[in-house]
Amino acid sequence: MSTLAFEIMKSPELSVYQLPVLEDNYIYILREHGSSLTAVVDPALSAPVQRFLEEQNWALDAIFNTHHHLDHIGGNRDLRAHHGCPIYASNYDSSRIPDVTHAMDQGARFRFGRLTIDVKATPGHTLGHIVYHLPDHRMLFCGDTLFALGCGRLFEGTPEQMWQSLEQLLQLPGETMLCCAHEYTLANAKFAESLGHLHPGYASYITRMKQLRSMQRPTVPTLLREEKLYNPFLRVTDPLWASAMGLGEIPLAERFAHLRLAKDQFK
Ligand code: ZN
Ligand code: FE
Repeated sequence: MSTLAFEIMKSPELSVYQLPVLEDNYIYILREHGSSLTAVVDPALSAPVQRFLEEQNWALDAIFNTHHHLDHIGGNRDLRAHHGCPIYASNYDSSRIPDVTHAMDQGARFRFGRLTIDVKATPGHTLGHIVYHLPDHRMLFCGDTLFALGCGRLFEGTPEQMWQSLEQLLQLPGETMLCCAHEYTLANAKFAESLGHLHPGYASYITRMKQLRSMQRPTVPTLLREEKLYNPFLRVTDPLWASAMGLGEIPLAERFAHLRLAKDQFK
């Protein structure tokens, strides 16, 4: 049986595949065609990645980690043992992710074959969390910072830090594909709907998402443009919505903090 993988980007320069693993994780595999280089983002496990690479007859040339949680680095050791590939992560996480070879800070830019990859520090979910932006392909590998209709829980960072991280992502073009590390969309929808005051476009968005899930297909990547309208954590910037929520009089970071707490307590 071949590995379950969805091709989410296909261009002459780059193909990107999405592998659903564990309960709700996504691993992404990038193939840069010009130089025939292959990278994996957040390998929760090694076996499905290894099987996929063997099917394609590809070696692995790099591992990109967004943060140190086991469901993002669990496959690192085996893949590195097998391929001897470098491991990219944040400088902050280089002390808690084994064998990091490329420790990067906010604003780092590197080349992978002909790809340009920009690194943004997005502390909040964890303090070392980074995201990988491919500006030429409008793709963002955002790990556990931003999800469809949600955002990462604050395990280490403060709400202010997370809000600054999200504000950074809000600067990216609306057509940016958000390649999130988890399939949480329908669960997140329950919280979004509990808040009410949904955007008029929400109904067709969520219908599409439910259809995808009923066909066992991923709901991500999603577009930043859509998340700005429907994701409650990004909607705090909308003054009308914020005042409908009773949050109109407080700064954006506090609006965000209020919503994050409400979601943590939501059942
Ligand atoms: Zn995590
Ligand atoms: Fe995770």
